[in-house]
Order: sequence, then C-alpha cells, then structure tokens
Amino acid sequence: MPVYFDHNATSPMHPQVADALIPFLQNPTGNPSSLHSYGRMARSAVESARAEVAMLLGCSSDDVIFTSGGTEANNLLLKGFVEQQCDSPIVSSEIEHPSIIEPLMQLRSDGYDVILLKPDQNGVVDLEAASSVLTGVTPQLLSIIYANNETGVIQPLEALSTMVDHESCLIHSDATQAVGKIPINLSQPGIDAISFSAHKLGGPQGVGALVIRRKPNRLLISGGDQENKRRGGTENVAGIVGLGKAVQIARLEMEQKQHHLEKLRNAFEAGLQSIPDSVIFGQRVARLPNTTYFALPYYHGETLLMELDRAGFALASGSACHSAVTEPSHVLKAMGVDDSLALNAVRVSFGMQNKLQEVEMLVTKLQQLVNKLPAVVRRVAV
Ligand code: PMP
Repeated sequence: MPVYFDHNATSPMHPQVADALIPFLQNPTGNPSSLHSYGRMARSAVESARAEVAMLLGCSSDDVIFTSGGTEANNLLLKGFVEQQCDSPIVSSEIEHPSIIEPLMQLRSDGYDVILLKPDQNGVVDLEAASSVLTGVTPQLLSIIYANNETGVIQPLEALSTMVDHESCLIHSDATQAVGKIPINLSQPGIDAISFSAHKLGGPQGVGALVIRRKPNRLLISGGDQENKRRGGTENVAGIVGLGKAVQIARLEMEQKQHHLEKLRNAFEAGLQSIPDSVIFGQRVARLPNTTYFALPYYHGETLLMELDRAGFALASGSACHSAVTEPSHVLKAMGVDDSLALNAVRVSFGMQNKLQEVEMLVTKLQQLVNKLPAVVRRVAV
C-alpha cells in the first residue's frame, strides 16, 4: 500500500483508540438512556468522553453536543442557532468547507442576508476588507474556519471577533482541521462555539461534536431527549468512546505531535524548493504544522496524484470533480490563483506515523517526475 500522506482527509485510527472502542462494539453495550447497569455503563462512557472534550478545549462538559461528524455539527450550528425571522446578517468567508458553504447557500435562498468575507492572496481572511464590510453591520453570527482544510492556513479569529458585537453576535469556528493539531482554548474570549470531527485526529469516522453554550432555536435532528434535548437519537457509544480517547491522546501529546509534524513539513518544503517553479500556497503565513498545499506548474494535479499513487504515495488533489468536469478549488480561486495553476494543486498532509525517510522519498520521486519531463515543457511553464 502507498505511504499515506492524506491525513486532512481522514487519519488512521490510533491503536489506543481502537483498544478503547472495540469492547463497546463487541460486548452487549447498553443504551445510555437505559436505567439498568448496561445502560449506566454506556452513559458513564459517553460522559467520560464528554469530560475529555471539555478538558482539551477548556469548556464545560455541558456545552458538548455529540454529532455524526463535522458536517452535522456545522449544519446544526447554521440551521439550529440562527435567529428566525431576523434581518441581521450571517457573516462567514469564501474559504469555508462545503459543510458551511452549502447550508449558508440554503439560508441565503431562505431569505437570510449572508455575507462572505474574502481572503487575501495568502489565504488569510483579509482583515482590512472585513473591517470595511463589517462597519455599521450588526451580524447575528460570525462563522470562520479555524484552519483551512486545503491550505492549512490559520485564520485571524481573534482580530475578526473584535469587529463584531459580542452581545448580539454568536462567534463560531469550524475547527475540524485544527482540533488535536494546535491548541484551542474556548475559555479565552473570542470564540463561543466550535465544530470538530474525531476522524481528523485519530478517532473513528462518523462522530464529532458541536461545542456551544447556548440552546438551539431549532433542532436539526429531533426525536428523543438525548444530548440534553439538543440532538435526538441513541448515541453512537463506541464512536463517542473513540472520540474521547483520541481527544485525550491529543491533549497529552500535542507538543510532541506538533514538533514531529513540523519537522516533516519543513523537510518536505525544503525539498520542494529544489524543484524549479514549484509553488507553495500560503507559505508565508501561519499554517497547520502538517499541511503543504503546492503546485508544479507543468503537472495537472490529478495526473501528478495518479503518478504518485503508482509510485507508492497517497496525496490529495485540490480540485473537485463535478459531473466529469474538473473544477479548480474554490479556496484557491478566492485567493486569486489562476485557474490553470489551481488545477495543478496537490495537498500533502502528514500524520504521526509518517517518517522523515518517507518524506525524503516523496521529494525524490517528485524530482524524478519533473526531470523526466521534456525540457521544453518545463521552459514553457516558467
Ligand atoms: N470542516 C472541515 C474544515 C473539514 O475538513 C471537514 C472534513 N473534510 C469537515 C468540516 C467535515 O467533517 P466530517 O467529515 O466529519 O463530516
């Protein structure tokens, strides 16, 4: 199997997470709402996971709503917490994940005023432009991605939060790529709510959380009284146990993880410099320690991906395929990157089990692929 370099898409389950959750799949697991001892055991496991989330994020356990992942958490936030029949705008950005953009488009078609802030050429939400857009505006919600999933660029949330009135505006961040990779503390002023997902930090797929102190105005999933009446349905006990373990490991190993990932990323980017005309998006600004989003001007992103997959490396392309047409990334488009260069974008995202030697092998492979191209192709690209 190829070396896995696509941790922003999903990360392999940490062995300790598997050990923690497997018993909850194998043995009779009670329903956390049941009163018998099986039910109480399941309830206690769910509540321990909730406490782990609170410990990592500096919030109260009561604020944690378990969901089926980042997408559901973002949808719950946008559909459940916006004020109904309210003229105050909802402010977000052009570089959000589709699980924010798509619900926002639904809200817009329902008549809400949705304002999308623009990023600068480095992929950072442009503070000057934001300040002029937000002057005289009283948003009800500001939702900005914590760190972008493609570029890894960390957004200026603190500065943006000073541009809105905290009394009337709920400040949310989709922190799906950031939780477990960089420290986030909700006890500091600035952010009221975040979404995240277990499978981005070594937990299982299909489980995540919205962390928020308020009660929703409307439920996304109604049914039983689970999650303190904020999300109906029997809890995914094994998934939540896995999330709790992943979050605990992230808290205990954060520094070590950041150090390892940065070492890999820096080695990769140093190697990439040796390839003429290579471009690293957002290179000059603060990014996640594990992400490099790059392009070789003479290689279409998908072609490069397939070449690398054949050579034993699994990376991600920045473009999306819609009805057999390849579209450049909306994030790069928003950053003002030319479509032709954006179509060449490839993302590498490292994880804890990656080794420096694997990174060096990837760089060597890229150098070989480029050297194999006829000189004329490379000249044209310059
Ligand atoms: N937000 C961001 C920034 C993401 O990267 C992802 C996953 N690609 C999601 C939300 C959605 O998370 P999930 O896969 O858990 O639904």
